[in-house]
Amino acid sequence: MRSFLLVGSLLLATSQLFAAPPPPPRISIVHPPAGSTVPLTKECYVTGSITPANAPLTCNGKPVKPYRTGGFLFMFPLQKGRNTMVFQSGKTKVTHSFFAKPEQPAECRGAITPLTPKLAVGAGVNEPIALACIAPAGRKVFVMVGERTVPLRPRANDPMVYDASASFAFPVENVPVLFWSDGLEDQPAGSITVRKEWPCYRVTGKLFEVRLRSLPGDGDTLGFLPPGFEFRSCGFFGPHVRVAFADRTGYISRSDLRQLSGAKLPAVPVFPDIARGYPARPAAGKRPQDLLIVVDAGHGGNDSGALGPCRKMEKTANLAQAKRIEQALRKAGFRVLMTRTDDRFIGLYDRVRQAYAKRADAFISVHHNATGSGGNPATARSIGSFVWNERGKALAEYIEPRIAAVSGIRDNGVTMKSLAVCRNPATPSCLLEFDFINCPEGEEEIFNAARQEKFAAAVVQGVLDWIAGKRQ
Ligand SMILES: [Zn+2]
Repeated sequence: MRSFLLVGSLLLATSQLFAAPPPPPRISIVHPPAGSTVPLTKECYVTGSITPANAPLTCNGKPVKPYRTGGFLFMFPLQKGRNTMVFQSGKTKVTHSFFAKPEQPAECRGAITPLTPKLAVGAGVNEPIALACIAPAGRKVFVMVGERTVPLRPRANDPMVYDASASFAFPVENVPVLFWSDGLEDQPAGSITVRKEWPCYRVTGKLFEVRLRSLPGDGDTLGFLPPGFEFRSCGFFGPHVRVAFADRTGYISRSDLRQLSGAKLPAVPVFPDIARGYPARPAAGKRPQDLLIVVDAGHGGNDSGALGPCRKMEKTANLAQAKRIEQALRKAGFRVLMTRTDDRFIGLYDRVRQAYAKRADAFISVHHNATGSGGNPATARSIGSFVWNERGKALAEYIEPRIAAVSGIRDNGVTMKSLAVCRNPATPSCLLEFDFINCPEGEEEIFNAARQEKFAAAVVQGVLDWIAGKRQ
């Protein structure tokens, strides 16, 4: 027994004498991902990490100073096409390539590109139909609408965009549209159909997903149509049905609708008010126990949200912060509904629907921000709130100052933005961004339990201020 011990300690001493050298530093690059394409801006941010955190590090020969976590952030000047960064630390060398491409075609390459109508369009009798294309500046550009030739005029603020309009005093079906200019190739566009009356439809899609949009396929959300709602359309654009309510005209995806035959509905439908019966703010005298607050931890499951330099995920930070807010709200007496309590993906409108179905009094979505590729996370670092309507704005304007007071970073204030989780016309909804995860300091601090507690208490205080109608 004794001799074994002796041999053992001798072996230990020898191994210490000839200790293996420490493992070579490990370098991991998070942004821009290898092989990815970023928009061609002057520079883009680069994040990643090195272990150990104090190992010397260079990128293309220039020193990089990692934060104490090992996470690093610097701005990298971009060139068009392939960009290569060579990271070196001791014997470790990592070559990392990605691409930078201009976001939009920089110039019109001497050709005509139809803008409107790109797809088949349907309109009413005598209704002006917009016709537009891009073509080299200073040309005579025309559009053939069936047998008619219509000259286009260059736009005052953009001489490469040419406009005209056409209307029909009688119904027509599938009239071809062709843009042309001498010496350039003719460009066919979407055809025109004009009718006196357009079909009626019934909404078959889900509430919050059937959106009336300001532009076909995209654009602002002008409101939501509830399942079963029936209306008369006034035309179409490609796969989108057009409808004109008294106060707003917009487009709905045909996939969310079923055509009704023989229905006699008024030409101008009344826009359905799905917020009716939902108060914009708690009635006077309401106590916390009378109120249900939905706390939404952003992202989850396959959707990890933004990534920090050390690969910490936004979805994890959101859930941790949301749980602290939940506990703090419960302690203050509120009823709370969490849209998720574990790491799973929940559709954006499913989160909105939970608040609507439960007639929640407020909806608070918890996120951590990150800049776009060309932004500098170090200077962008701030807190901020996003809202879609006045109800959400009123709520956020009470919460935001309370968070700002304890955050220690810049306050970006309350911003109107059309984010899916905030697009709830009924429940006052806001999305809070607590710090930026794509800078090393932010990535470290958002996982700090004491700071999460401070933020949670601030949110509760903000909600209490909102109920009382008293600004801080
Ligand atoms: Zn997010």
